[in-house]
Amino acid sequence: MEQPISVTRSNFNDWMVPVFAPANFIPVRGEGSRIWDQENKEYIDFAGGIAVNALGHAHPVAVNALTEQATKLWHVGNGYTNEPVLRLAKQLTENTFADKVFFCNSGAEANEAALKLARKVGLDSGIAGKSGIVAFNNAFHGRTLFTVSAGGQPKYSQDFAPLPNGINHVAFNDLEAAKAVINEQTCAVIVEPIQGEGGVIPADIEFLKGLRALCDEFGALLIFDEVQTGVGRTGALYAYMNSGVIPDVLTTAKALGGGFPVGAMLTTDKFAPHFSVGTHGTTYGGNPLASAVAGAVFEFINTPEVLEGVKHRHQYFLDALNKLNAEYPIFEEIRGQGLLIGCVLKAEYAGKAKDITTWAGEEGLLALIAGPNVVRFTPSLIIPEQDIDEGIARLKRALAKLAK
Ligand SMILES: *Cc1c(COP(=O)(O)O)cnc(C)c1O
Repeated sequence: MEQPISVTRSNFNDWMVPVFAPANFIPVRGEGSRIWDQENKEYIDFAGGIAVNALGHAHPVAVNALTEQATKLWHVGNGYTNEPVLRLAKQLTENTFADKVFFCNSGAEANEAALKLARKVGLDSGIAGKSGIVAFNNAFHGRTLFTVSAGGQPKYSQDFAPLPNGINHVAFNDLEAAKAVINEQTCAVIVEPIQGEGGVIPADIEFLKGLRALCDEFGALLIFDEVQTGVGRTGALYAYMNSGVIPDVLTTAKALGGGFPVGAMLTTDKFAPHFSVGTHGTTYGGNPLASAVAGAVFEFINTPEVLEGVKHRHQYFLDALNKLNAEYPIFEEIRGQGLLIGCVLKAEYAGKAKDITTWAGEEGLLALIAGPNVVRFTPSLIIPEQDIDEGIARLKRALAKLAK
């Protein structure tokens, strides 16, 4: 075979639209929770591709599903259904509150579908002006114009005005504030059970229960954005299962494909019929290749062993982080559920999260931020304890640089 074209990190600046500022090394290979770059330097992966690589890298279950399907059928378009997508729909509906699924390719598209469904349900209700959407400050729902407008971080939306209107933002975890804006004209409330990008902030159970009651009272759809919290991330299959609050619509993506792009919107028989033939669509959504991988990943994760393992690893992580924090008291608070963990920096280290992840990279650790003041970890759900130990040792060396 011909040698591939040789590329370097500086080529990113040459040829790529500069919306990202990637690390100064290029990962080329991964196995489990370890990654190697072009220089064959090894990294422990506490980032998991931003809560995506739930089985780590090159897991045989995912590799086999992909390669088997790759020899059969990649894509047919939604004029035809296919076996892998129907199997995946069966898995998702049998294991959640949902009766029906719409497949797409990303979290933003899943939320776009959810918000459009809510608007359609509102329209079909016959109640004049039932199009209002209630969302929360600091929320993140994706980067399409509708989802970035539903998101609660104006810095991501303000440059793209005029924005879709009818979206009201109030403070997260403030039920009284939500109560003040939810009414007969509200068609949906969209909320993350744990705000991920916004800083790993869990919703209070009473807050979610209150939103459920308000949605019932005013006939609005309760949408849980579980793009980051779903598919075992919190130790439950979906985070709503931890709260006992059942949404009308749930969006899932990130870990669903274990690294293969796929998203889904789940809903019930009550609301699904409003998305009648032709009202919404997608070219790639539910394609056999993505669905085959997602089916295998979902089946692997949805077992008591793997889900219990996530809870166990949460405690193991917390113990190690607390020990580290006793030595270098840098974190004000360590929060989150399962393997979605946020370490909030003390006021004197405000704004240093990005520096910490840069130094972590130098020490051979991939880690994330969630805003300027939170270091976030979303590793593989099956990361071995010895990789956690090694990653924490490398984090310690990175923190030593900050302490200086
Ligand atoms: C990542 C994320 C999204 C957007 O998903 P994409 O696949 O990047 O479109 C939406 N909501 C939440 C909660 C997320 O974490």
